[in-house]
Amino acid sequence: MSARPRRAIAPDAILVGGDILTLDAHDRRVEALAVLHGRIVALGTTREIRALAGPRTRRHDLGGATVVPGFNDAHCHVLSFGLTLLQVNLKAARRVADVTAAVAARARRTPDGAWVRGHGYDDNKLAELRHPTRADLDEAAPGHPVWLQHTSGHMGVASSLALARAGISRDTPDPEGGVIDRDPGGAPTGVLKETAQALLRAAIPPVPLEQAKAALAAAGARFVAEGLTSVQDARAGSLVPQELRAYQEATSDGRLPVRTSLLVDVEALPVVDGRVELGFGLTSGFGTDRLRLGGVKIFLDGSLIGRTAAMTAPFASDPHTSGFLLKPEAALRRQVDQVTGAGWQVCMHAIGDRAIDVAIAAVDGALGARARARRPRVEHCGVLRRDQIPAIRRRGMVVVTQPRFITELGDGFRRALGEARLRYCYPLKSLRGCRVAFSSDRPVVDGAPLGGIEAAVTQLTASGAPYVPREGIDVLEAIRWYTMGGAFAQFRETELGTLEVGKWADLCALAHDPRRVPPTEIARIPVVLTAVGGAVVHRA
Ligand SMILES: [Zn+2]
Repeated sequence: MSARPRRAIAPDAILVGGDILTLDAHDRRVEALAVLHGRIVALGTTREIRALAGPRTRRHDLGGATVVPGFNDAHCHVLSFGLTLLQVNLKAARRVADVTAAVAARARRTPDGAWVRGHGYDDNKLAELRHPTRADLDEAAPGHPVWLQHTSGHMGVASSLALARAGISRDTPDPEGGVIDRDPGGAPTGVLKETAQALLRAAIPPVPLEQAKAALAAAGARFVAEGLTSVQDARAGSLVPQELRAYQEATSDGRLPVRTSLLVDVEALPVVDGRVELGFGLTSGFGTDRLRLGGVKIFLDGSLIGRTAAMTAPFASDPHTSGFLLKPEAALRRQVDQVTGAGWQVCMHAIGDRAIDVAIAAVDGALGARARARRPRVEHCGVLRRDQIPAIRRRGMVVVTQPRFITELGDGFRRALGEARLRYCYPLKSLRGCRVAFSSDRPVVDGAPLGGIEAAVTQLTASGAPYVPREGIDVLEAIRWYTMGGAFAQFRETELGTLEVGKWADLCALAHDPRRVPPTEIARIPVVLTAVGGAVVHRA
């Protein structure tokens, strides 16, 4: 770098004294960078960058920390996660009694007749290996309607009062694509699967705007503390009224300090002249650098641990079912046509290999040779068959996968599938050469990116069992998929995803180099600083 030109505009901020992994095409490492108007304007040694500073330049000493591009969670549920932060957290429940105790405790602090809501229980992790029932919940909170969401998000359990408010009785037929679980006598057990949940949710009073904004603020605080600078909400538009307004206001007042992109729920959008419309011809990419429309989300099937994913062969744990598509294949393919026809990027939730087959066929039908340019996304892309991987690669489809599932759900996957099919269940190394973006699906599992990166490298489940060790990838590759991967998945690779001149100064500083700690300690590395557009939004 040469001497500073006279009267050059001084940077707004400089960050110096770090070990900055730019993750550019040459994996360049530098000590310092300068920021002007939110973007990186120079990279170099601490001495070089210090020389650029003017009297009003903010200076941040990185203290030798390892800096990486800010993490980008390509598929999470931002508002839903924020709302769960305000609900009863049942992740740690290991017996049905833990669930009922937590519900009873919340009920005591809740006015009679008001809803008690919880989330995160997992029947696979309860000693009884069953869902709580409405009888359990009635005993815990007789005066309150109770609705507990399963950790998968694809099912939940309601108390009798909640069922009554929703008008669900033994006479209610199962809705299309859903199941009202029943006891041998035909009475609802309280467990509602897939679309049956909508019957219940309709009875819950809507979340007011201010509460939605408070939820976004709570989520935002967690994101930046974990090094996330971009998030992609995987189902916007169906959770609360005025949902986009909540995002808009929380973003503009700074309470949601990350860059957010919204994948709009296809079911929340009308079809006009054969195209899925949000109105005024709005489509993917509309918005600002802070808040924009992503793709349109279409659910092809359900969940793997809930055994509602659409498979070509029955589950090992339940030989009587191979899951199901949420609509007939022709209807799903028509939706993909309607979404892509309106210019949207299509984001297809597909977990079982049958659903993935449908996703591939739908892309061929809707996009043909234009598929690569339009970057159709497969959300989860869970239970792959070996033959599907080259098919996905050739079409340039983006695999939006969740490495943290290995940790939290891996033991359940093994039970659901058996050893042979586990081989290509959420594979990683086999996806080399494909377009891959890492994500968490939070609040389904913990969303801290370093936890996902650790899982991708170690391939260890929560029980300590090896998952599929040959699918482990190296740390830098995992970081790339958690940064550039997400940027590419949202067509933002020219402005996000690496630390290069001209890109947004979105970064996080880690107390230790994740390549130099034992792999089982990656998740515990403290995030010491996070910056979005060069502004420090978190400091430990
Ligand atoms: Zn999701």
